Amino acid sequence: MVGTYKCPGCGAPIEFNSQAGELVCSYCGTHVDVSKMNSETDKYDCVVEDLEKEDAQYGDFDSYKCSNCGAEILTDENTSATSCSYCGSPAIIKERLRGQLMPKSLIPFKHNREIAKDEFRKWTKKGMLTPACFRKEATIDSIKGIYVPFWLYDYNVHVDMMANATKVRTERKGNTEYTHTSHYQVNRVMDCSFTKIPADASEKMPDSVMDKLEPFNYNELRKFEMPYLSGYSSEKYNYTKEEMNYRAESRARGYAFTECRNSIIGYSSVNVVHSNARLQRLGATYSLLPVWILNYVFKGKQYMFAMNGQTGKIVGELPISKGKAAAWFGGVFAGVSALLLLLGGILG
Ligand SMILES: [Zn+2]
Ligand SMILES: [Zn+2]
Repeated sequence: MVGTYKCPGCGAPIEFNSQAGELVCSYCGTHVDVSKMNSETDKYDCVVEDLEKEDAQYGDFDSYKCSNCGAEILTDENTSATSCSYCGSPAIIKERLRGQLMPKSLIPFKHNREIAKDEFRKWTKKGMLTPACFRKEATIDSIKGIYVPFWLYDYNVHVDMMANATKVRTERKGNTEYTHTSHYQVNRVMDCSFTKIPADASEKMPDSVMDKLEPFNYNELRKFEMPYLSGYSSEKYNYTKEEMNYRAESRARGYAFTECRNSIIGYSSVNVVHSNARLQRLGATYSLLPVWILNYVFKGKQYMFAMNGQTGKIVGELPISKGKAAAWFGGVFAGVSALLLLLGGILG
């Protein structure tokens, strides 16, 4: 089933507006609260048009009919929200957001498409080795707001740590300096708890990029409601909380060791000889986190620009333009030879 939220005022497709924090119709300006839109759609079946999934299958793709223009929408098996590539209407695939697949919470987008595009433009200008073609509007227009599926884990961690430590004191008697070294065995037992350690549950998103987009401010987590996805893309999780547990667990373990080690203070040296952590997982919550993504290919290599849709933090890798790089290195060489000439002058 694919659904499109329709404006109660004029019937046009309506999208979540990150500035207003609610759904806003771009045709007639009607504002609708997210939770109200959800309850309305339960009451009035006509607001969301559910159309039967087409039988046609294109390899790993599923095909749906756009409820606005009737064109075919192709999605891969993981997509839960997308838009029609003909008329741009938001389309939400509801069966991928129900039951086991229903997220518990989400952080709504705070930065809209225009801000994301501006940030990308600024970012490409900063990189002095960027080829000009990446600043083309067509490239910038392909930026996508995606709700990335995450598991947020909570743990209690019990840490045992043993360290050999020293305190060094020096004193001077006459012409002789004495060094006194005291040796200590330090034992620490610590209980820590960590909440909302994130691990991204999407196969497509590189973990390295997602880790760098942190931190998200989890105080702004909201109860999941489907209308938040209207106008954005979203995916269901590929990896279960059991499959991603090892990533979050190793982070929890690392944080606990750091906490414990940092509590051993006041010594000249500390050498940890034994440490052990016992973890208890308290829970894992399925959440969607907002990310702006722009993928591009340059000389057969793929690059990604990503921006945290909540905080605006940017992660990306710029390709290097050969022409500009040559000019840049030419400048460096000229500088070096000028310096050598100068040195030659001084030495000679
Ligand atoms: Zn309207
Ligand atoms: Zn359409």
